[in-house]
Amino acid sequence: MTAEPNDDAQAVERALEAGRLLFAQQCDFLLSAAETGQLPETGLPEIAFAGRSNVGKSSLVNALTGRKTLARTSNTPGRTRLLNFFELGERLMLVDLPGYGYARAPKSDIKQWSGLTRRYLKGRAELRRVCLLIDARHGLKESDRAVMTELDTAAVSYQVILTKADKVRPTQLAEIIGATGRELAKHTAAHPEVPVTSAVKGDGIPELRAALAALAAPATED
Ligand code: GDP
Repeated sequence: MTAEPNDDAQAVERALEAGRLLFAQQCDFLLSAAETGQLPETGLPEIAFAGRSNVGKSSLVNALTGRKTLARTSNTPGRTRLLNFFELGERLMLVDLPGYGYARAPKSDIKQWSGLTRRYLKGRAELRRVCLLIDARHGLKESDRAVMTELDTAAVSYQVILTKADKVRPTQLAEIIGATGRELAKHTAAHPEVPVTSAVKGDGIPELRAALAALAAPATED
């Protein structure tokens, strides 16, 4: 049997609805981990968010969950070097990783990324995907490429997501999407699709919710 275009449209609708429902659930800050022994054992699938400092990571997590307090939690002084865990609807953990790549110290970018983050990325059985956020104005930078190579080596599945799309003109955005896609084709663990998002305008948020909901634990029947 061949799929009718109508079936495809319905599948997209269903996925968007599943994403909307999941991200409308309660989302609570669980804990901040400073060392491997503090990583929670929830048994839930995990999605980690990574990116250069100021890429818009907290804003994106807020836009996804529709809550403002989460960003504040992660950007609280003292918490920015920690792994911050949020539990979504008892089905998915969202893990905010420390930002990397301070402009003032480009050479030590990756070294600044703590050993804890690396150990988490390489050894976490629950980790389903890393969302690697890239500022749509700048595209991939050396520090991002270094992280991608590490994730390739560790065979950790990741997806590049463009942020702050509202700050870029459509022609420039198309160029960045094309260049990013071509580069991703050379990375073995990279997801081929590059979602384009704006936390400010809401662009791409329902689609990203849908993609992440597909990785969550199944909803339990009450
Ligand atoms: P983080 O350090 O990666 O958590 O970045 P933040 O979420 O704190 O965002 C850094 C800056 O970028 C803040 O001034 C945000 O208001 C801004 N920002 C984040 N997302 C967007 C977006 O989608 N559009 C625009 N125009 N600004 C954004």
